[in-house]
Amino acid sequence: MADFIPVSAPALLGNERRYVDECIDSTWISSIGSFIGRFEREFAGYCEVEHAVSCVNGTVALHLALLGLGIGPGDEVLVPSLTYVATANAVRYCGAEPVFVDSDPSTWNLDPADLRRKVTPRCRAVIAVHLYGRPAAMDEILAVAGEHGLRVVEDCAESIGAFYGGRPTGSLGDVAAFSFFGNKVITCGEGGMVLTRDAALGRTIRQLKGQGQDFERRYWFPVVGYNYRMTNIQAALGLAQLERIGDYLAARDEIASWYREELAGHPGLRLAAADGPAERSVCWLWSVVLETADPELRDEVMVRLRAAEIDSRPFFYPCHILPPYAGAGAVCPEAEWLGARGLSLPTWVGLRREQVQRVCGELLRALDATACAGSAARAAGE
Ligand SMILES: *Cc1c(COP(=O)(O)O)cnc(C)c1O
Repeated sequence: MADFIPVSAPALLGNERRYVDECIDSTWISSIGSFIGRFEREFAGYCEVEHAVSCVNGTVALHLALLGLGIGPGDEVLVPSLTYVATANAVRYCGAEPVFVDSDPSTWNLDPADLRRKVTPRCRAVIAVHLYGRPAAMDEILAVAGEHGLRVVEDCAESIGAFYGGRPTGSLGDVAAFSFFGNKVITCGEGGMVLTRDAALGRTIRQLKGQGQDFERRYWFPVVGYNYRMTNIQAALGLAQLERIGDYLAARDEIASWYREELAGHPGLRLAAADGPAERSVCWLWSVVLETADPELRDEVMVRLRAAEIDSRPFFYPCHILPPYAGAGAVCPEAEWLGARGLSLPTWVGLRREQVQRVCGELLRALDATACAGSAARAAGE
């Protein structure tokens, strides 16, 4: 039997063990310790943003970003429907409502034309998600935001290391949220970071993540805050990961080039459009969309890949069809089309070219087999 190929796996190839050992040897294992400040400073520097606030995960980073902007009950926040549910949930945590925006069929990111159509008088912010590592159309998003007085949050959970217009994602809006979950470009196991150029906003967010405590007066809580603190062990992992990010991004680029070589031009597959001149994507999870009218096909292909010991992931269900959000009746047909047909393939540092070839061979075989099964079923009048 061929080896099982997971869809994702962390690469822990640098100082991870040494730094975690330092935490244990020094007993600084909780949310105070030197790695926290070091990771925040190094990550801020890497993203060319002045202020970084670490936190427990990416979902919390989004929550803190929105709270920091003062988003609350009665407000609306524009969110692409095709995203991980955390983007929408963070809006709800604030007591606000997400307004779902449709996708661009070629980049899979938020469609700026639909963004413009969906703005309401209650909208106070937009969350630009850089989906699957591809930068969202920030010039257009910032233009719409400027016209309507919207604050701009970047959800960079999937785009660590991506650039837009020569600037790192995370440095383009008012505030940005990052995730260091185990399958992201760099990981702390679980972890998150909020970045902003606005010193006052950074301070507000730092206070909120530390239970709301006053910076000068211990146990004095002028506001209701949260315990959203990262541990020194998480930060130790994150710092070690960040030291190697150049290697990790290069390895992911190479994997993307292997996939493109194997699959580009196949009539049954839609690859993400090539980066525009302003864009520099990172390959988070290499993904394709099956060009088919039959929305059952993708799941059948995944079952066949799994039988060949290859793991894959479907695209996210668009948030506007999930039970907590379906009531609003949002209209996002492209997001629905993509969500039903998109597929992410194994993408992790250490994945070998032969393995990518095996994945692609099995994918094309599965496509042929399902197409045959479909036409046979139709011929049989099913
Ligand atoms: C992973 C992810 C998040 C949430 O990050 P966690 O660290 O898992 O909480 C948010 N948004 C997007 C787009 C993500 O992919």
